Amino acid sequence: MTSASSAAPSVGATSRFPALFMGHGSPMNAVEDNAWSRGFTALGAALPVPRAILCVSAHWYVRGTHVTSNAAPELIYDFSGFPRALYEVRYPARGDAELAQRITSLLADVQATGRSDWGLDHGTWSLLVKLRPQADVPVLQLSIDRLARPAAHLAIGRALAPLREQGILLLGSGNITHNLAHALGGGGRERPDWAERFDRDVATALEQRDTDFLVRALETDDGRRAHPSADHYLPLLYVAGAAHDADRVSYPITGFDLGSLSMRSVSFA
Ligand code: ZN
Repeated sequence: MTSASSAAPSVGATSRFPALFMGHGSPMNAVEDNAWSRGFTALGAALPVPRAILCVSAHWYVRGTHVTSNAAPELIYDFSGFPRALYEVRYPARGDAELAQRITSLLADVQATGRSDWGLDHGTWSLLVKLRPQADVPVLQLSIDRLARPAAHLAIGRALAPLREQGILLLGSGNITHNLAHALGGGGRERPDWAERFDRDVATALEQRDTDFLVRALETDDGRRAHPSADHYLPLLYVAGAAHDADRVSYPITGFDLGSLSMRSVSFA
């Protein structure tokens, strides 16, 4: 179902930090010991220690581009109906206001602003409790402008690429296929053809640096079925935008949960 990579991402001859996209799937992966959560743990253990983490979470899908500037970002429990254990998760990472300022400078073209009225939503913390359980490096979140075109998200990723030279982990958190009506609505354990195809086509485009496909992908028939809403796909574009020509693409985690939910993780390193 999943495989933790033996070819883990690493910092190469340059000091460029890996850029990662991770499929977060169910919030329960934060508290369960399952194939996915073990994959998150293994991926984190293979990473160098970042100076900070900037997470683009599918769950901060709003108007405008904002970065958290809180000194101590609080966790947001942005779901309902889950077991108590999930509401008891803590992740006491600090923020970094100075880094938030540098990020808004990098993103001046889209008039990015610092925000202290958001924290870390489950798109971020459900991964980080496994990826970096020590909670010992600053964590910031970047919002996804829901009015921006896909190409604009790719461009923001490109503008953030210099952060990789500064030891900062750019982490996109979403899912390459995310049709919850199918996954939760009796889609069953059968993997539909559209999910398999879309997941594979996106992977091929990443390998070929086919950004034209990546920005058009949601307009295809498979893309529309894979993403009734764009929010879980777009974080991938930030990571793809921050890719360097010299990076190798790898998939530390692959497979599907709930029939149609791709849990593929993508590393550019
Ligand atoms: Zn989600």
